[in-house]
Amino acid sequence: MTIAYDLKASVRTIPDYPKPGILFRDITTLLGDARSFRCAIDELVQPWAGSKIDKVAGIEARGFIIGGAIAHQVSSGFVPIRKKGKLPHTTVSMSYALEYGSDIIEMHVDAIKPGERVILVDDLIATGGTAEGAIKLLRQTGAEIVAACFIIDLPELGGAAKIRDMGVPVRALMEFE
Ligand code: 5GP
Repeated sequence: MTIAYDLKASVRTIPDYPKPGILFRDITTLLGDARSFRCAIDELVQPWAGSKIDKVAGIEARGFIIGGAIAHQVSSGFVPIRKKGKLPHTTVSMSYALEYGSDIIEMHVDAIKPGERVILVDDLIATGGTAEGAIKLLRQTGAEIVAACFIIDLPELGGAAKIRDMGVPVRALMEFE
């Protein structure tokens, strides 16, 4: 994908975080730069100009920042997908795979009505385990998942391919090895 502004340069790479051997792609530098943040949101929403989107669902925690901005841009509601135990009302939940083990994400049971058109948002897709869990969670509600959006894709880890195999189009602004 060609983007007029050099967004990739605004992502900072932190070696050995959160553990030795990991190259962590830090988007706080992109968020902290006004032009980069605006450009990223504009690019992400571009395919849905003029389309009706009912909800943007953002995955805790960086997906809240990007998802909130996208929801404002497409004039939709925002739905938080959170780690277990954080939401106050009745929830639906889904287990998802981590590198070692699993975890649980939750959403309010009445957050999305059947047939609503939803965009799923997170900052980065790696193995796709988190996004896969979120898609299964959203599908429990009868949502129509229009796309899954990320700032960064790590294609070698196969997550984006996995999500496309689930029938969900993937939009990402840049790739890292
Ligand atoms: P996955 O489930 O696709 O393997 O991992 C994606 C999840 O882990 C996302 O919620 C993302 O925020 C987080 N994550 C994994 N690696 C990185 C990284 O290098 N940078 C950032 N910003 N998030 C990461």
